[in-house]
Amino acid sequence: MKDVHETFMNGENLKQKCIEMLHDRGCEVDDIIDIVFDLQKKYIPNLKREVCWDAVDRVLGKREVQYAILTGIELDYLAEEEKLREPLQSLVNSDNPLFGIDEILVLSICNLYGSIGLTNFGYVDKVKPGIIGKLDLEGKQTGKCHTFLDDIIGAIAAAAASSVAHNSHD
Ligand code: MG
Repeated sequence: MKDVHETFMNGENLKQKCIEMLHDRGCEVDDIIDIVFDLQKKYIPNLKREVCWDAVDRVLGKREVQYAILTGIELDYLAEEEKLREPLQSLVNSDNPLFGIDEILVLSICNLYGSIGLTNFGYVDKVKPGIIGKLDLEGKQTGKCHTFLDDIIGAIAAAAASSVAHNSHD
């Protein structure tokens, strides 16, 4: 019998697991593609959705992205279930603006394709387009915690948008 670790050593399995986890938390890959498309359409005439899909797929295939997804979403779950110890429980559950570890966790994702990833992330974090705004609101309801999820999604979109931007110049 394979142990859990062995099962998830395969990057493709881990990618599928992450897509499932995002789905269970209310975010589809299509929602992320929408953000990437909106971020890049003003710079790239005739941008095709497939190009954005391909970029998001490549980002989700990266191990550092997968580990950030696993870690962040798990912390959101634990906060919802009130299983974290204080003071972390209150910090995560209330999405305390000074906490900032949710943003730090996803920096490695933002930086996958150069520094414009960071600029894109800052923009997305402020404007909260599409699914990010929806989940942000939902996370403010009692019983829901999306403290890490919104940054994870924003960072994936930001990195994918950077990849699209770089490829369009090549
Ligand atoms: Mg957050």
